[in-house]
Amino acid sequence: MLTQIIHKTPTFLMPAAILIATWFLIPHIPGLSAEQQDLVMFAPYIVSAMGIFLSIHFHRGRPFLILLMLVCFYWCSQTLFLTKPFEPGLSQLFQAFVLLIPMNMALFTIMRERGVFSTAGRMRLIFIVIQALAVLWLFKRHFSELVPYIAQSYIQWPLFNSLFVPQPALISGALCFVLITGLALLRQTPIDSGMLGSLTAFFMACNWISTRDILVAYNSAGALILTMSVLRDSYNMAFRDDLTGIPSRRALNENLHGLGRHYTVAMLDVDHFKQFNDNYGHDVGDQVLKMVAQKMMNVGGGGKAYRYGGEEFTIIFPRCRIDDALPHLEALRETIAEYRMALRSEDRPKNQKQGKGSRGSRSGRGDGAYASVTVSIGVAESGEELKNTDEVMKAADKALYKAKNRGRNQTCR
Ligand code: GH3
Ligand code: MG
Ligand code: MG
Repeated sequence: MLTQIIHKTPTFLMPAAILIATWFLIPHIPGLSAEQQDLVMFAPYIVSAMGIFLSIHFHRGRPFLILLMLVCFYWCSQTLFLTKPFEPGLSQLFQAFVLLIPMNMALFTIMRERGVFSTAGRMRLIFIVIQALAVLWLFKRHFSELVPYIAQSYIQWPLFNSLFVPQPALISGALCFVLITGLALLRQTPIDSGMLGSLTAFFMACNWISTRDILVAYNSAGALILTMSVLRDSYNMAFRDDLTGIPSRRALNENLHGLGRHYTVAMLDVDHFKQFNDNYGHDVGDQVLKMVAQKMMNVGGGGKAYRYGGEEFTIIFPRCRIDDALPHLEALRETIAEYRMALRSEDRPKNQKQGKGSRGSRSGRGDGAYASVTVSIGVAESGEELKNTDEVMKAADKALYKAKNRGRNQTCR
């Protein structure tokens, strides 16, 4: 039940909820005792440390690096930007942060996940260290010459002028925001939505850099959003099958608990798949499994598909009688049997005999070469004799063997 709720919640809901909650919590900070306020000031470090620890644990290099940057930003804000009046040098350092952090967020959102301590992960860390060193070098030497450009107001709009963030950083930040929003909408992954949420929190903190409560609250919020996105991402991974993208056996085991009294279970197995792999190679085999999973996702009758393991799949029809599920399963079996997967020339069987000898798959020669597979399905429903899910699954498995023994490419009950 919990897994279903989590899977159905859009990924941007959690970051949005944290951002809104933060806004309402800020007015309560001044009412806290002195000790509690000290703890609040420390919150961004605690949350970031948790996020960094989880990112390392789950091999998530992108949130790991962004969290490191955010911790540095918070440390500088708390020790330099907030306590000391705005000295010229410090404001330049601040402007470097406002310009660079959103750009890095956008860059890491575009880039693929490559782990924390892998070669790619270490290269990315070095890339950030180089940025930091470059900023320090410019800060020590020529940075003052750049200030007129990066702190200038180019457009005289009242809204722009009321914001504290300088215009160049505002414009580049807005571009990064649009880019990350596009990717987050397109891919719907927790990390993308987390990046979007923490970028928003970062801009809130920057715009109110000299208001302590807002600064600390939005720094905590940004770190919390990224930490939660790491958790949700690894949670999704555990419950989703990597190859086919459909829910895994783990998700099946969870969802079996929430079924009512009446339901139907179908076990599906690809016919002669070992031979298919031998003929066409493992890659084409993987393609076929993806195709089968895709067709299963569209099975009617409210059926939900899972990859049970290897070339075996399960479909659960909640609140459904076996007679109502059977037509949908028959239609699925036929759709899969009729599907022709075009082969690239390098995927075709090496010799003619091998190609022809393959049962359950056919191959033509010339441009129209294709492969196809069939599946066998066993079905069982809950009832008087089969009371628990374990028994129904076993009965479906038995029916599957019946289908295999009767010659495959059929549905048995
Ligand atoms: P049957 O009709 O009796 O089911 O014959 P079969 O060859 O399909 O049965 P068997 O269970 O002996 O073989 C299953 C094969 O599925 C073995 C393995 O090579 C292949 N397989 C399992 N998982 C994967 C996978 O993720 N990718 C690919 N390409 N092949 C897989
Ligand atoms: Mg099998
Ligand atoms: Mg098989």
